[in-house]
Amino acid sequence: MPYSYEAPVSQTLFDRASRVTPGGVNSPVRAFRAVGGTPRFMVSGDGPYLTDADGREYVDLVCSWGPMILGHSHPEVIAAVQEAVARGTSFGTPGEGEVALAEEIVDRVAPVEQVRLVSSGTEATMSAIRLARGFTGRAKVVKFAGCYHGHVDALLAAAGSGLATFALPDTPGVTGAQAGDTIVLPYNDLDAVREAFAANPGQIACVITEASPGNMGVVPPAEGFNQGLKDLCAEHGALFVSDEVMTGFRTSRAGWFGVDGVVPDLMTFGKVMGGGFPAAAFGGRAEVMAHLAPAGPVYQAGTLSGNPVATAAGLAQLRLLDDGAYAKVDAVSREIQELVSIALNKEGVAHRVQTASSMFSVFFTGDEVRNYEDAKRQESFRFTAFFHAMLAEGVYLPPSAFESWFVSTAHDARAIERIADALPAAARAAAQATPGAAA
Ligand code: PLP
Repeated sequence: MPYSYEAPVSQTLFDRASRVTPGGVNSPVRAFRAVGGTPRFMVSGDGPYLTDADGREYVDLVCSWGPMILGHSHPEVIAAVQEAVARGTSFGTPGEGEVALAEEIVDRVAPVEQVRLVSSGTEATMSAIRLARGFTGRAKVVKFAGCYHGHVDALLAAAGSGLATFALPDTPGVTGAQAGDTIVLPYNDLDAVREAFAANPGQIACVITEASPGNMGVVPPAEGFNQGLKDLCAEHGALFVSDEVMTGFRTSRAGWFGVDGVVPDLMTFGKVMGGGFPAAAFGGRAEVMAHLAPAGPVYQAGTLSGNPVATAAGLAQLRLLDDGAYAKVDAVSREIQELVSIALNKEGVAHRVQTASSMFSVFFTGDEVRNYEDAKRQESFRFTAFFHAMLAEGVYLPPSAFESWFVSTAHDARAIERIADALPAAARAAAQATPGAAA
């Protein structure tokens, strides 16, 4: 089915982009390859809505892959950015904004005694792994299949997100040496972790996990899984690294730590804490963080780290995120989940909605999804049909069956009504979809 006719201006832009940028995009999932059709080039965002280059408005259920938890162009965030920009955009010196943002993070997330600001989630996890190796003097890293920690060489093995979307087991360009110290285990399987520690005595620097994975779709940790990881790490002298780039400041005031209370040695953050700008962080126990340069020997740096505009945006956003805001996004999310399920049930489409606070995804399978293998068993051809029917009705979903959907405090009754109006046709399209019929 040709989808491109719906977006002629986006198509022209995509053609131009494809000449000067590999695949026409600067991050793979944006290219719509898993679902086909023309990626929409967005020109503006306002509250829960995005407007594309063809002038069509969409209810946005991607929210920039998580950061825009207050919706687009929130007036107070924009004002903070404008105020910061007017004072200059980068100094390459310390500044008060980065201190205030670090204090806000330390105040919210009890296990974080010290924090270092960086510019992307990838940098945060890369640096946390280096620090864990430097601190323990060990080389090996345990990660879980389907978890995505950014495009860090050592962590791309069996990763989720775009690699799941494109069914890539791993990627050329990562050498055996870079990946050789990575042990990939099935998610939610503590026995596998136990066995890995037994088979690699004194060699594992850290276990890194998404605090509650969202990059193979939403697959929350089984009861006791994170605590089990923490205990095994403590028993074997390894660090427990909880990647909260996606869940941080989204699933509660203190992220997933605020939900399950398991205390990691190191944590990583990004997305929400940048308010739509490139700001991320890693932090944890002061004793571990003290190994970072210039306090200690583990080197880590960044020209734009703690950038004054990014920190102003992040701080403004975090300060607006009180308990009421989290209650609002959770309620909005539940309402949308219910509407989706009602529509799919009406058409007899087997599915499962899995959640982590306001993060959720819809798997096209009747079975519980506990790990990456389960996620891959879903009928993703139904998602493709569903996605395009929603897009045609002005609802912008993540263009992949292996991603979380994100909502904001700005998703109001009108936005939800538009989603409700789009769902019956999308559920019918999902019901009628057949394997191999994707665009
Ligand atoms: N960790 C997790 C859990 C993520 O979801 C992501 C991005 O989606 C990253 C790390 C990488 O962050 P960034 O894309 O900012 O490099």
